[in-house]
Amino acid sequence: MLTIGLTGGIGCGKTTVTQLFEKRDVPVIDADVISHAIVQPAQPTLLLLKNTFGKQVLLANGELDRKYLRELIFNDPSKKETLEDIMHPIIYTRMHNELAKFDSPYGILSVPLLLETNHQTQVDRVLVIDCPETDQIQRVKTRDQLSDQLINSIMNAQCSRSLRISLADDILINNKSLASLDTKVQKLHEFYLQMSAGKNN
Ligand code: ATP
Repeated sequence: MLTIGLTGGIGCGKTTVTQLFEKRDVPVIDADVISHAIVQPAQPTLLLLKNTFGKQVLLANGELDRKYLRELIFNDPSKKETLEDIMHPIIYTRMHNELAKFDSPYGILSVPLLLETNHQTQVDRVLVIDCPETDQIQRVKTRDQLSDQLINSIMNAQCSRSLRISLADDILINNKSLASLDTKVQKLHEFYLQMSAGKNN
């Protein structure tokens, strides 16, 4: 299956765009959903985290103590690397397996930090959802009521707009109405269908 990696900065419209692809029966696997699923109680990945970082990573009820883990890796970059070395291969294997369950010409892996974590080789094409930074800030402010300061610090932790665009195979600019976005998604959908037909010949 032709595999598209969909990514973009905070508030650019990744979720909105994935919904428009889903409306066209394109399977979408979300990295955030998978990364939560694999650390549910009794999952092997959770046991792996406990064996690596100690039993303090578990709450009394057996769930992952996200706050503890976040603080642990925030204070120690080598632990952050260890965590990523454990999680990323499991996440990508699971995402590819989930996608393979669909009988579809192409599918989408939605990965907000695809480029920041240098995983573009996991997909056939990188699709970047892009919009002006002023739109990003405004949309996130309206949606989540976050402060400018917090939004800026999240944006600064993500890769720059120019780097993201330079690594893209396809760019979807989400700077107009939702109707115009829908039209752009339709064009891209037709392009991916054509491309996947070529891939299978
Ligand atoms: P995050 O990175 O925070 O998960 P995201 O990239 O998934 O965000 P969305 O949640 O899709 O972005 O969009 C952010 C907000 O902007 C949402 O409230 C969405 O409804 C709105 N939005 C997205 N695109 C448009 C558009 N073209 N016109 C108006 N509102 C939009």
